[in-house]
Amino acid sequence: MPWRCASAWLSHSNIRQATAPARGFQLRALPLTRAAMQYVSTRGSAPALDFEGATLAGLASDGGLYVPREWPRFSNEEIAALAGLPYAELAARIMAPFVGESLSYERLLELTTQAYGRFAHKAVTPLRQLDEQQWLLELFHGPTLAFKDVALQMLGLLFEEFLGRGGDPLTIVGATSGDTGSAAIDAVAGRARVDIFMLHPKGRVSDVQRRQMTTVLAPNVHNIAIEGTFDDAQAMVKAMFNDPAMTGRFAIGAVNSINWARLMAQVVYYFAAGLQLGAPHREVAFAVPTGNFGDVFAGYVAAQMGLPVARLIVATNVNDILHRALTNGDYSAGTVTPTAAPSMDIQVSSNFERLLFDLGGRDGAALAAQMAGFETSKAMQLTNMQREGAARLFSSARADASDMARAIRWAYENTGELLDPHTAIGLHAARVADLPREVPLVTLATAHPAKFRDAVERATGQRPTLPARIGDLFEREERLVELPGEYAAIADYVAAHAVPRG
Ligand SMILES: *Cc1c(COP(=O)(O)O)cnc(C)c1O
Repeated sequence: MPWRCASAWLSHSNIRQATAPARGFQLRALPLTRAAMQYVSTRGSAPALDFEGATLAGLASDGGLYVPREWPRFSNEEIAALAGLPYAELAARIMAPFVGESLSYERLLELTTQAYGRFAHKAVTPLRQLDEQQWLLELFHGPTLAFKDVALQMLGLLFEEFLGRGGDPLTIVGATSGDTGSAAIDAVAGRARVDIFMLHPKGRVSDVQRRQMTTVLAPNVHNIAIEGTFDDAQAMVKAMFNDPAMTGRFAIGAVNSINWARLMAQVVYYFAAGLQLGAPHREVAFAVPTGNFGDVFAGYVAAQMGLPVARLIVATNVNDILHRALTNGDYSAGTVTPTAAPSMDIQVSSNFERLLFDLGGRDGAALAAQMAGFETSKAMQLTNMQREGAARLFSSARADASDMARAIRWAYENTGELLDPHTAIGLHAARVADLPREVPLVTLATAHPAKFRDAVERATGQRPTLPARIGDLFEREERLVELPGEYAAIADYVAAHAVPRG
């Protein structure tokens, strides 16, 4: 039921008429259907929800991930009319069809203005040119210096908005390989009606990353270091979502990129970069350092919405399950090897499920069976339909430690830029991609180099300095608990500290 009643459509049109500069412009720039966008689960049996419901739910109750029932699509004229908008306004225009009737356009614009007002660069996600073809999209100007702020600053405000409408207090449970945790904690610290429990693998995040989480002393913030890897932590979060004893008592929500609202917010910067480089009249390619497949899936969404994307290059480190899946259809998890790019030290990429669902004809029952097979054997083959669909837009590359260090050195010697290890893996993939010369190739710079100072210093001899806004991080008090990597221990801790429903 994609279309809602005519009066809802009209009232949204009226809002836009009141704020649009001129009628001709307004007609072309109108967002798409202001219908009640519905979200369906990739595993086919959870109830469909609206945007508010999908945002608060995170993971679907059948273990799947929520995706919009259909992709909104902009015409070339509509895309052209987005050029030159301030970032917050571009964000509201891109998000509006996904938000549907959960927020008025005016309120949505207030939230994007507030979220992106906290960024240290006026352009929010500035583009930098590296050579004739290579560009860098700097996504690290938010409060915690990683691209995850772009989505999570918005998500924190959405939670606050929707929780303010009543309903149960929210218990956010998340797992982090480093950057999600600090960005999520910054986004919800001190906010009403929400607690956050953030699991990180003990000793496997950098000192800066850990301190960015553990020095936030707001009473609604609970940091938990567990024995094990990121995948162990992520598995425990998933188990909690599927544990009726917990979901019955607590309204459990997600901030991992399994939350649709995060991906929605990330679609915006693909448009921002594409528009600056000539879209809709010119195709643009992106190289994306990838772990959980969230960031690069947002690029796929941008392409479905009409942005002319020549190619999405999935860049992995030696934890290369996605590279293997995209080159020969083999999606099988090995063991995680710790690297200098810890946010990509992942062997199970949750958001890949969204792509497999969309490419596999959106057959929830079939995907549920495919994922059940993966969950028992930790391996699966992509179907031909999934492989061929992926090959049309995606390619991939894998970077080992020396590829990464070489990319950091190349950027420093040729442009004076210091890159963090994740970004360097993206740039390595971009430099070996061999695309036609006329296609601009944008590497997503996912973290500030100061977050990973040791690796940058090893490659270049230069030690990046922490930006002034987080300069006293190493003097601040830390607070965290350490728990064994066992589900029962985590569930008991959350149950003892969270606020129950009702
Ligand atoms: C999270 C993260 C990634 C991986 O992003 P996904 O959305 O999980 O693919 C890459 N680089 C950095 C710095 C990150 O924090």
